[in-house]
Amino acid sequence: MAATSHTSVKPRNGVSTLADRWPLLGQRRTLLYYLGGIVILNLAATVYFMTTTVLRWPELLTFAALMGCGAVCIEATRRLGMPAGVSRDLLSAWWLPVALLLPPVYSLFAPIVLQVLLQWRVRATVLYRRVCSAAVIGLAACTASMTFHWLVPNSAVLSRGSGPPIAFAVAAATIFALLNTILIAIAAHTANPDISWREVLWDRESVLLDVVELCLGVTVAIACGLNLALLILALPPVVLLQRSLLHAQLQAAARTDSKTGLLNAAAWQREADTEIVRARRTGETLALLIIDIDHFKQVNDKHGHLAGDQVLVGVAATLRSQLRDYDVVGRFGGEEFVVLLPRADVHEARRVAERLRYCIGRMAVPADDAMISVTVSAGVALMSVHGDDLIELLAAADLALYRAKELGRDRVCIPAVQPSPPALPEDPAA
Ligand code: GH3
Ligand code: MG
Ligand code: MG
Repeated sequence: MAATSHTSVKPRNGVSTLADRWPLLGQRRTLLYYLGGIVILNLAATVYFMTTTVLRWPELLTFAALMGCGAVCIEATRRLGMPAGVSRDLLSAWWLPVALLLPPVYSLFAPIVLQVLLQWRVRATVLYRRVCSAAVIGLAACTASMTFHWLVPNSAVLSRGSGPPIAFAVAAATIFALLNTILIAIAAHTANPDISWREVLWDRESVLLDVVELCLGVTVAIACGLNLALLILALPPVVLLQRSLLHAQLQAAARTDSKTGLLNAAAWQREADTEIVRARRTGETLALLIIDIDHFKQVNDKHGHLAGDQVLVGVAATLRSQLRDYDVVGRFGGEEFVVLLPRADVHEARRVAERLRYCIGRMAVPADDAMISVTVSAGVALMSVHGDDLIELLAAADLALYRAKELGRDRVCIPAVQPSPPALPEDPAA
């Protein structure tokens, strides 16, 4: 999956040719068309359902009550702050009941209400992200709603406790989760084809959260159908769950470099130390790489810092996609990355370092006026050969990196091991 159309043509000396640039410019355009298509589809569905649905007061009241609960949830957690980047919440505990209990048109409006609240009360982000989120969730929820109402024409039976309507509600909620995940995964993969489909589609934590959302959504829908006032009982546990979820995400964010999503220097050092202690105990091999982007200052000077940041993001994505799950990869600072390779010997370390250098060299990042390609230099150090602890390994890899730069960059260096001096003959006088 990592081999993509744009990376399949090797730019010579790390500089992409015009022919290499077309596919990438095409990708950007594809993403734009894709997201635009989702928004247009959402608008078309909204217009269709608005013209074919008769709004009724009890339904409007249920919608207002569920959105009120969503608003309380947002207010109750907003002071905790929001982790940078993509974060998860449990707001579908409120819009899933909207999808199950009310006609599909309400499913299209629920995410708009909640996205407006998030934008206004929690974090003002670029508007197109909110629009796209609302459009994706709206389409997924509307499809789930249509499916459920087709299977169960009178949604009031959901709260009577019989099996089939509840099973159909679970099926509809599953359709919502699947569709939402797939629509987002397609956008993520189009934006960065170096990320594998598995990475964008399957994340254990995320699936667990989807299951929690499904359970909450169906339970709240049943309670809500019994009596709207029961929402008062459902609200506190959902708020508490939402707060603990946010807390866990903030904790994870504290370990992460916000620009690249890799481990930050402190977290990487902690994890690397643990791996080194383990390798010493078990006697297994281990290697450490320091990877530094060549002439990165020139990239900033020529294309601007924002484009430079995109290069950092691209390099990080390539590193992630090329390494094993148990390799420890972090951003050490600036344009320097560190990788710890448990169980790697000298051949494996060199092979991995060369592959990373090769893949990053083939990467092309779109900037406003051009495609940016970079090369990297890497220094490698091996446990028990070049050092016995993290400090020694870092020093040895840094020295090798310095050598790689001296030799002309775009290469991998491993420090020569000094042969140990021959044992001195014993002093006969001693
Ligand atoms: P060399 O090949 O010797 O490594 O040259 P270099 O230009 O890559 O190295 P140098 O240390 O001279 O410059 C590093 C540059 O990285 C300077 C700094 O502005 C830039 N930089 C550091 N952090 C960031 C960042 O987060 N974003 C961007 N865009 N640039 C950064
Ligand atoms: Mg550099
Ligand atoms: Mg540097």
